[in-house]
Formats: sequence, structure tokens, C-alpha cells
Amino acid sequence: MRRYDWVLIDGDNTLLDFDAAQAQALGRTMEARGLSPTPEALARYAGINQALWDAYARGEIDRERLRAERFRRFGAWLGWRGDPAAWDREYMAALGECGALLPGAVELLAALKPHCRVGLASNGSTQVQRQRLEGSPLLPYLDGVFLSQEMGVNKPEAAFFHRAMAALGAVPERTVMVGDDLLSDIQGAVNAGIDSIWYSPRGAESPLPTWRVTRLEDVAKIVLGERMRGNEASQ
Ligand SMILES: [Mg+2]
Repeated sequence: MRRYDWVLIDGDNTLLDFDAAQAQALGRTMEARGLSPTPEALARYAGINQALWDAYARGEIDRERLRAERFRRFGAWLGWRGDPAAWDREYMAALGECGALLPGAVELLAALKPHCRVGLASNGSTQVQRQRLEGSPLLPYLDGVFLSQEMGVNKPEAAFFHRAMAALGAVPERTVMVGDDLLSDIQGAVNAGIDSIWYSPRGAESPLPTWRVTRLEDVAKIVLGERMRGNEASQ
């Protein structure tokens, strides 16, 4: 028997290959500045960016501060002197052009579509996410697109989930949140009082999610009721 009728699903690193998009957009904008996008530099930027997004998810900084700060910190590490705000603008434009999907993303939404109503639930910037969704093969499978910047509230706040659920006509007991981020996606689901499926492709573990999967295709099995309950879903 089907377990969930409504699915909220994260975008970056759940459906969209954010790591690839980030490397591509960063590489392009570094080269434009005569900088070499070495693996060490990419890893450094990713660490700076993730720390700022974590601070954002905890409500410690706002989006403008995040955007102003990441290329200032990265530039300082590189010993680069230039305008971090201009770099950020170029980077965001480049990011919007990189809409690579994770393997199995379209197949997952196609499997869910006949049975569930599905909403994209993302903290990513409106500019970038709208640009990537335009013409994306994901779009025909989505019943709603919920972007925190447009909603005025972010994951993991309960209000984000409650508003998205209200828009979809969702019943909490029959709704599940799917995502790769323990804080914004999984703690968010806990805050909102709904079940969660943690997409943990590297096999990391946590007691927080209702379910844990290492492969995207297993999400459909859980939602459609083909798997037993519990964290063992990944094994
Ligand atoms: Mg994500």
C-alpha cells in the first residue's frame, strides 16, 4: 500500500547535481580572473560556501550577507584583490546555466507522478533555480515549486513546510520530505512534524531521518510502500 501521497523534495544535490554545477561555474569565473581552478581551490570554496549556508540555515546570517561574504573569504584565501560582489554576480549567472541532474532524478519523479503530488522545496536562490528549471526535464513532474526566497521563510523552519503543504493540499501524516541536507531538509521535516527520507549517497548515518537511502531510486520504493519501515531501507 502506498505510504505517502505528497512528496516535498529538495533541489541541490538531491535532484540537481549541485557539486558539478558549482565546480563548473566556479571554474569559469576563476579563469576569467586569471585564477587556476585547482581541486584544492574548489574544495576550499565549497567549504566556505557550505559553512555560510549552514549559518544561513541556522538563521545567523541573511542571504545578502552570505553572497557578499563567500567571495570575500575565498578571494582572501587566494590572495586575490578584486570586487567580491561582482564575482558573486557572475558566479550566480554561470550557476543558473548549469542545470545538470543527478542520475535517476527524472526517473524518480516519473515514478512518483502517477501516484503523488510532488513539490520542489529549495533554499537555493530564486534567480538560479528558476533559470535552471526553465526547460528542465524535471518541470513537467512538479506540482509546485517552493523557493524560500519567494516564500520569505527558509528550510528548516516549520512555516516553510506548512506553507508548501497548504499549497499542495497535503495532509501531514501522508507527506514526506526528501533531501540530502540533515539540517535544512531533515531537521526541517522534524520541525514541521512530517516524515523524512535522507538521501545519503556516501552512506553517512544519522538517527534523525525516518528513512535513509543511498540510492535515489529507493525513494520511490519507500513512498510507494514497497519497503519496510525504518532506517534499514538503505541496506
Ligand atoms: Mg540539497
